[in-house]
Amino acid sequence: TDERVKNEIESFNQGVVERNPAEYEFHQAVREFTESVMPFVMDNEEYADGHILQRMTEPDRIVIFRVCWENDEGHICCNRAWRVQFNNAIGPYKGGLRFHPGVTQSILKFLGFEQVYKNALTGLPMGGAKGGSNFDPKGKSDREVMRFCQSLMTELSRHIGEDTDIPAGDIGVGAREISYLFGQYKRLNNRFVGTLTGKGLSFGGSLIRSEATGYGVVYFTKQMLAHHDIQLDGKSAVISGSGNVALFCAEKLLDEGVKVLALSDSSGFIHDPDGIDSEKLHWLRELKFVMRGRISEYVDRYPSADFFPDQRPWVIKADLAFPCATQNELDINDAKALIDNGVIALAEGANMPTTLEAVRLFQDNEILFAPAKAANAGGVAVSGLEQSQNAIRLAWTREEVDEKLKQIMKHIHSQCLQYGNGSDGKISYVDGANIAGFVKAADAMLAYGI
Ligand code: GLU
Repeated sequence: TDERVKNEIESFNQGVVERNPAEYEFHQAVREFTESVMPFVMDNEEYADGHILQRMTEPDRIVIFRVCWENDEGHICCNRAWRVQFNNAIGPYKGGLRFHPGVTQSILKFLGFEQVYKNALTGLPMGGAKGGSNFDPKGKSDREVMRFCQSLMTELSRHIGEDTDIPAGDIGVGAREISYLFGQYKRLNNRFVGTLTGKGLSFGGSLIRSEATGYGVVYFTKQMLAHHDIQLDGKSAVISGSGNVALFCAEKLLDEGVKVLALSDSSGFIHDPDGIDSEKLHWLRELKFVMRGRISEYVDRYPSADFFPDQRPWVIKADLAFPCATQNELDINDAKALIDNGVIALAEGANMPTTLEAVRLFQDNEILFAPAKAANAGGVAVSGLEQSQNAIRLAWTREEVDEKLKQIMKHIHSQCLQYGNGSDGKISYVDGANIAGFVKAADAMLAYGI
């Protein structure tokens, strides 16, 4: 029967490739999912019928549109934008917007697809979506970013709403961009409702939203380690990225007594053998979010550190690894280097940062592996809490939101245990997250009929 399952996975994925030519990231995300879910589907009568996997791998709809805007020199610039509304079986579409020159429909489809199951895991009523543009915010003035965001929202606003689709941030979309987007949405609709999350605190934003993804990654990791009788305190960590996710992951790791050795950006990584302490982290936050500087500037200020241009940080010896930058940033060679250096656990702060081959190698070597859908769900979870606060016109305290976030991450961990406990007695967090998310969305879809 193993052979039968394997054949089913292969023929299903062949179909996905044929229906979605050249969308490699999307193929990858679907393959990872079906490898977990297919054996479960074939074992459980209620899912075996109705082509549920085929329905789940086809987005509900994709809106594609042109975004024209004027730069500071008065030239007209043209970008393409998308909103992939993947699945609203269990709640309104929810997911971030990504602004990056490398954005493609394939990337947004993979992100929207994963968002469906991630959001289901949070236990909050949210469907999955993703959007974005090939616009590059790097090197643009605030006014250029503003004009781009306003132009994008002029079209996007007709496709979203507080009960239909609620965008948020992702790579290249932070507090500044959400503010411009929300301002334009409000202007166009003349309604003050929480149709975007990640808003500023003075206009409906939630405390802890900025911190939530990074904190959640650490809460999840702590659960996973504790379940295997391992302590977080006293461990060392290597982190990639230096955005919201990476920097707040680092902050929470420091609180937990972990030594943070490395951070990175697209130009390379810094290694600080003394550890990146909270004072250095504070300075880094200013550098990245206020000055919009590069990570390499760290070594001018802290000469104990080294900068390694055009390299990834996975060569640094550490107990824990947190890829928090972008998709496919950790391949099989990086995995080998981490394993050779004795890594114990890895948690994905970014979406799909680990290639399929690298995930398999970690699992074969019994490295604890926390997949993105579970580990980084804290961000969208607090987005869900932001929506709740907007709906009841209240603002919860830091402590209240943080406590709810902790409970949600705990709930996700227990769902991974429930569905990821293999016949060999080992827990696969990848299978657990995929199957638990699948069950929730599939049950709703099947209940609705065809
Ligand atoms: N972009 C984040 C994610 O990948 C957050 C989405 C949201 O808050 O809606 O989950």
